[in-house]
Amino acid sequence: MIQSVNHSIPAFDIKQQYTTIEAEVSAAVLEVLASGRYIGGPIVAGFEQQFAAYTGVSKCVACNSGTDALFLALRAFNIGAGDEVITTPFTFIATAEVISAVGAKPVFVDINTTTFNLNVEQVAAAITPNTKAIIPVHLFGQPVDLTGLMDIAEAHNLVVIEDCAQSTGASWAGQKVGSIGHIGCFSFYPTKNLGGCGDGGAITTNNPEVAEKLRILKEHGQKNRYHYEEIGVNSRLDAIQAAILQIKLRYLDIWNNQRRQVAARYHQFLNQIPGIIAPQELAGGMGVWNQYTIRVLSNKRDLIRNQLQERGVNTMVYYPRPLHLQPVYANLGYKEGQLPVAEQACDEVLSLPMFPELSEEQQDQVIYSLKDCFFS
Ligand SMILES: *Cc1c(COP(=O)(O)O)cnc(C)c1O
Repeated sequence: MIQSVNHSIPAFDIKQQYTTIEAEVSAAVLEVLASGRYIGGPIVAGFEQQFAAYTGVSKCVACNSGTDALFLALRAFNIGAGDEVITTPFTFIATAEVISAVGAKPVFVDINTTTFNLNVEQVAAAITPNTKAIIPVHLFGQPVDLTGLMDIAEAHNLVVIEDCAQSTGASWAGQKVGSIGHIGCFSFYPTKNLGGCGDGGAITTNNPEVAEKLRILKEHGQKNRYHYEEIGVNSRLDAIQAAILQIKLRYLDIWNNQRRQVAARYHQFLNQIPGIIAPQELAGGMGVWNQYTIRVLSNKRDLIRNQLQERGVNTMVYYPRPLHLQPVYANLGYKEGQLPVAEQACDEVLSLPMFPELSEEQQDQVIYSLKDCFFS
């Protein structure tokens, strides 16, 4: 079908985006360097305010990473030894790792077939007297049905900690993710929708006491200068990263719209291929497509992945193994077959090239190559 393949298409490309804002970013970084304020200061505070306003919350606390954001969120709600936290087995390890890091126990609930997100209907059955919190993950940029989840949480007095690492800018029922649960955790890792040039993270909440606790915990548990009441950590967003993120936040909606356009075009053409299932948004959700992840049926995922690679189309597998079957969680005693939807997803998922700057020509190459794999 396709005549010639001249350039291979990367699964993501963060360098290309940088070239579009290079002058602005360079000037802002140089300004921070000249200021001598490398930790804290007005640039970091300014970013926190802007990000709170963008998300639609009253408080934002910046930190060193998405992982730290989740860890600090659990600590802020005093979740620890003896507590259980419900989450999805189909996510990046950080989501569950932090539950273990605070001494609590992760409880995995299966996912929804169409969205890859936590199956909200199955959450209630996993609640025990020890359950303290739920961590829904807005995976691949698609929001979880938070209306249903908040109802369950309220009925059982549970904290909802949104893992928004892959979904900055997404919304559910007209509200931004990170503003609906009790607390929202964001990552600014370079490949996320809002990515810095290094590590970074942020926590959002409408609860001023929780925000205050987060500030204490992320600064070594320091309440007043050199007065410590809790064991904390050192978790900072650097001023250089904050300066870069301030600039990129201004473009985020444009970039997310470009991702949505790519997803719409992919859907239009890939929906016709019988051997795959193209992803879909839930009604009520507005996704931001950190990944565009199809399912390849009939045990053909790895074969198709190789055939695409031969045609110059690079893809990724997020995630090849569910967390409940990872060696690190063998002690929890989960068995194969116990969370079948997540397990099947791990065998079928394939994430296609997705970034805002992906040209129509490149999209066509992905579409034609995929059709070629099935129809030639
Ligand atoms: C990236 C990611 C994290 C962790 O963020 P870091 O900034 O890399 O620490 C947590 N959860 C999910 C779902 C992620 O994708």
